[in-house]
Amino acid sequence: MKTRLDAEIDRRRDDLVALTVALIRFPTVNPPGEGYRELCDFLALRLMARGFAIELLRATGALGDSDRYPRWNLIARRDGRRTGDCVHFNSHSDVVAVGQGWSVDPFAGVVKDDRVYGRGACDMKGGLAASIVAAEAFLDLFPEFSGAIEISATCDEESGGFGGVAWLVEKGWFAPSRVQHVIIPEPLNKERICLGHRGVWWGEITTEGHIAHGSMPFLGDCAVRHMGAVLAAFETELFPVLAARTTSMPVVPAGARRSTLNINSVHGGLEEPDTAYTGLPSALVPDRCRMIVDRRFPIEESLDEVRAEIVGLLDDVSQARENFRYTVRDLFSVLPSMTPRDSPVATAVADAIRDRLAIEPEYVVSPGTYDQKHIDRVGRLGNCIAYGPGILDLAHQADEWVGIDDMLASASVMGRALLSLLVNFKKVPPAA
Ligand SMILES: [Zn+2]
Repeated sequence: MKTRLDAEIDRRRDDLVALTVALIRFPTVNPPGEGYRELCDFLALRLMARGFAIELLRATGALGDSDRYPRWNLIARRDGRRTGDCVHFNSHSDVVAVGQGWSVDPFAGVVKDDRVYGRGACDMKGGLAASIVAAEAFLDLFPEFSGAIEISATCDEESGGFGGVAWLVEKGWFAPSRVQHVIIPEPLNKERICLGHRGVWWGEITTEGHIAHGSMPFLGDCAVRHMGAVLAAFETELFPVLAARTTSMPVVPAGARRSTLNINSVHGGLEEPDTAYTGLPSALVPDRCRMIVDRRFPIEESLDEVRAEIVGLLDDVSQARENFRYTVRDLFSVLPSMTPRDSPVATAVADAIRDRLAIEPEYVVSPGTYDQKHIDRVGRLGNCIAYGPGILDLAHQADEWVGIDDMLASASVMGRALLSLLVNFKKVPPAA
């Protein structure tokens, strides 16, 4: 059944479309990360006029920040008349490169067939616009709310979030004392609630050999052959084991509902020649081979186990093979994260989906990580979900679009979640 709040959001359809179009017109392509400040300034003006206090924060010193490409973030906060919880909507302002194959101008914000087209329409300027319109409609109808609403536009999500959410978390902006509920309006389809993501371990494995003339390989020791033995062990011992290791996490797509490993790259022998060089390589036995692996793991596995499994396998190869020498280096890791289904924010959004869309919410977990990793890991704020309009499969594609009705429906869900967390919440009786 439609409520007064739903009707108020529906009435703002044109405003929602215009806001999405305006956001798409900032070509915030990352890398390198341009136009962040301009987008923040635009939102600051709009939200200031609606009574939000504005913080414009540059992630000085963060990975990726420079004077040429400053990492600007915006946090807007509107406090209610009474104390209570703070609900924070976090959207990333950056978009990925345009790529080939577009039939419309990717930064014009073309509106046709009840869709808005453009780079970032779906991932995730449509979600950002929906959260703003939801909050504005809510504020107009329920000025007596308790607690606070925050809206952030943060940079660099597409390159790891180090100049965005990670930096803000380190500076305390997501501390549990100031923010109690986080909704990240990533494009997950309007009936889905994303509870978290699998973990990641990126490792670099190097095998070492001995250089010699290529006409007499027996005088050297080929590091690529040693790596070949590692790859063979992966095929026979590791991949079958990983494929059989399933998880209780509701990861989508279902193929990712297990432990996975991607061989990101293998480099052995001479450096790849410059494309301007047209000659032949020199005759050398490779003395080094380097492989980068990208291992994804669910909550049932620990980072230590993941790493130890690879090291154990390398030790087995070493037992079976003469002169096998290796090193393992950790490049990057993120622990898996899953917010409980019965957490207050997940419950509020789930109830809103049931009431507004007349559908049972689907709980999902992302195969890859997104900014929730920083909020959970550094900020220790477990009450965080991703929920927003748009079809995940369209993210990063040519002719990316977001449906206007989807944006309106998800804005209603977000508005209703605000209503249950900041107005109709159950007052906890004081402890006896
Ligand atoms: Zn995104």
